[in-house]
Amino acid sequence: TNPVHIIGGGLAGSEAAWQVASQGVPVVLHEMRPDNSSPAHKTDGLAELVCSNSFRSDDAGTNAVGLLHQEMRALGSLIMAHADAHQVPAGGALAVDREGFSQSVTAAIGAHPLITVVREEVKDLPPEDWGRTIIATGPLTSQALADAVQGATGEGALAFFDAIAPIVHADTINRDIVWAQSRYDKAGPGGTGADYLNCPMTQEQYEAFVDALLAGEKTDFREFEKNTPYFNACLPIEVMAERGRETLRFGPMKPVGLTNPNNPLVKPYAIVQLRQDNASATLYNIVGFQTKLKYGEQTRILRMIPGLENAEFARLGGLHRNTFINSPRLLDRTLRLQALPRLRFAGQITGCEGYVESAAVGLMAGRFAAAEDTGASLPLPPRTTAIGALLDYITGGHVSVDADDDGAEGEAVSKPSSFQPMNVNFGLFPPLTEALRSEDGKRLRGSAKALARKQALTTRARRDLASWLATLSAPAPGCPPEGP
Ligand code: FAD
Repeated sequence: TNPVHIIGGGLAGSEAAWQVASQGVPVVLHEMRPDNSSPAHKTDGLAELVCSNSFRSDDAGTNAVGLLHQEMRALGSLIMAHADAHQVPAGGALAVDREGFSQSVTAAIGAHPLITVVREEVKDLPPEDWGRTIIATGPLTSQALADAVQGATGEGALAFFDAIAPIVHADTINRDIVWAQSRYDKAGPGGTGADYLNCPMTQEQYEAFVDALLAGEKTDFREFEKNTPYFNACLPIEVMAERGRETLRFGPMKPVGLTNPNNPLVKPYAIVQLRQDNASATLYNIVGFQTKLKYGEQTRILRMIPGLENAEFARLGGLHRNTFINSPRLLDRTLRLQALPRLRFAGQITGCEGYVESAAVGLMAGRFAAAEDTGASLPLPPRTTAIGALLDYITGGHVSVDADDDGAEGEAVSKPSSFQPMNVNFGLFPPLTEALRSEDGKRLRGSAKALARKQALTTRARRDLASWLATLSAPAPGCPPEGP
């Protein structure tokens, strides 16, 4: 059998290599470190964690990333097995001893009889005689390969990205305060003229908000990030506030073309707009609110916005250099480059965000590559599972984001021009079809409803994962046992 080549021995590449080899298919894993390193990596270990040591919540009953952990364990994930083995105390989170974790992943990969590790930078598109190849070179893909990928995918397809706006869970927005209306009631294609949710602010509230932004603790730029330009001239809100107290009121918070039906005679001094972020309207992003405030500060300051007092965030804003491809446009449902199907992508370069998500996409890329090689049947994971929902988001199955920034919500297909990196979260799952009720049959509300919803989504995910797993072919005989 020809080996599957994998470029990048990070979270995704290591997981993909393990998955391919576990199906009895040989692998050549190309990793550029130690000869070349990214600006963030510090060691020559595989699966190095470049920043925090946390894999986030391990609660599989009410948390989407915890559920993803559980699903990956069920799929024989190398990354999860070694994370579990190198856990350090961190409350409900799964945090790891980063060095022990990376060293033991490196040892497991090195000891696998079907995996060969080659320490070299791949500077160009993989040659044809490599055959099936997975590109898992991460958000800090080396420049030469990034240029080659850009050449193969087309101008503009590879984005530099450094600012993201927070995303709010729709059911945590206070509908008694916000109202639905597009600016000047403009209805874009497919829109209704009421496509945005609007949060009104008085002058007093606005001044307090600007003060909080100015005083809020910001994430420091790393040295290598200082030269990265802001994407699309997207300034963080706190930078806008620094430029003048009125800048935001003339920018993303301008109070024009909108009338508050709850108080039609008083014109709001400023307005924050929320835009639907997915087809099922379970997520809204805060328009123009990219920020590099520290996470705790973001949550505190954004909750000063009327209507968002109790907001829960599916994603907080952030600012770092991040290379990713426009996956919904470029990849097929099994992560292959449509224009060159021998190439598959995995990890953060596909537009997922985070260690766990990157490893999960690596896991699926490895499984898909191996199934092609062995001829095994591998249906897509159900979209009701965490791994299926994430894959669906990346490959554009059902995501509906606003393509032309006109605020118009779309049909249930992806509109990839505004595709943005995403952590796994319940907003990516198909909504529940039945109302949530208490034991005595009453409709649930508030926090009881939010909790019941998460529990119902995880129960459904577990059931659907089990059915899907039952359809998969067994791994090839004679593979070494998985895990540390
Ligand atoms: P990586 O883990 O980066 O692995 C890519 C690998 O490819 C690297 O080993 C690299 O050396 C190698 N490589 C690159 N180019 C080539 C080439 N041409 N040839 C051969 N090898 C190559 N996520 C979190 O969950 N928590 C955090 O706190 C966090 N902090 C972050 C901080 C920064 C500064 C950055 C950039 C990212 C951060 N992330 C964080 C995101 C994190 O990097 C990713 O989630 C995760 O590491 C991505 O996994 P990956 O396998 O796609 O890429």
